[in-house]
Amino acid sequence: MTNLQNARDYQELLDERVETSPYAYATMFKAEGYVARRTARQRFALLRALDGKLRHILRPTEHVFYVTWGTTHSLAEQFFTGWMASALNMRALVFTTERVLLLQINARKTSVRELVAQIPYTAIVSVRKSWLGSCRIKLRDKTLLTFLRVPKGDMKFLIEFLSDIVKGSGAPFEISTPLGVQHLCPHCYVHVPAFPPACPQCGGRLKLASKAALLSFIFPGLGDWYLGHRGFAAMEIVGSAFIWWVLIVAPLLAPEDPDLGPITLEYWLTALFIMLVIHGTDAMMTRHAARKGHYPAGPMPHSAQHGS
Ligand SMILES: [Zn+2]
Repeated sequence: MTNLQNARDYQELLDERVETSPYAYATMFKAEGYVARRTARQRFALLRALDGKLRHILRPTEHVFYVTWGTTHSLAEQFFTGWMASALNMRALVFTTERVLLLQINARKTSVRELVAQIPYTAIVSVRKSWLGSCRIKLRDKTLLTFLRVPKGDMKFLIEFLSDIVKGSGAPFEISTPLGVQHLCPHCYVHVPAFPPACPQCGGRLKLASKAALLSFIFPGLGDWYLGHRGFAAMEIVGSAFIWWVLIVAPLLAPEDPDLGPITLEYWLTALFIMLVIHGTDAMMTRHAARKGHYPAGPMPHSAQHGS
């Protein structure tokens, strides 16, 4: 029987003889026109990559209406985006019967990474299309979240779908509960509030933002390495080592320039101040990246392993 893993392309999933699954293939792969078909092919590849993990996350009666991708930015983050934040913020957006699941994926959308979060539909207060054509939602904890880099046709779906949900849930619910984006345990996928060192549910260990920040303060890049952003960390380490060499190490090795004379105290103070700013800024950025969700520290505990 045809299923997600043995299908050769998305069209095979629209066949009648397809295995029962939590996914609404007919909605996801209703592709008309060249652009829509290209998006459908990408969606097919992404869903295949997410499938194993998604089946662990979904509750027994929960179904998936739609899957797309994009970056999510809070208002504060829009001030310091750039490619690093964009690469870090790329998420598969999974619209289920209960919530929007946000699964961290790589920038090329071919593999799934560690961070998982959810937005319960009851957390969404309003949905607005911004003047740039992106979608901005307001959550009950006053967070403003912007979805960017979503495929064009999907952005329309996203706005209409969420607007309908908000209209539907306009019933009097407890406005006072400050619901927002909820980070899930990367081992057992329950919501874990705040940033504890281990998941209270399964005991799986989580990486600490304070440790990540301290490591980056000691030397820029070390904290990102600890978090697992290895490529970015390596670039930072090389860049910082170069600045250390130019400003500190080389002058120490050759303290006297025949033309300029000995290096002054003022020079050393300025150089140290620059290094302090670089290390401090990186520590702050690493702390921010660390608090984007729960990173697993160590393997999945036995209690969190799901059958397979
Ligand atoms: Zn857990």
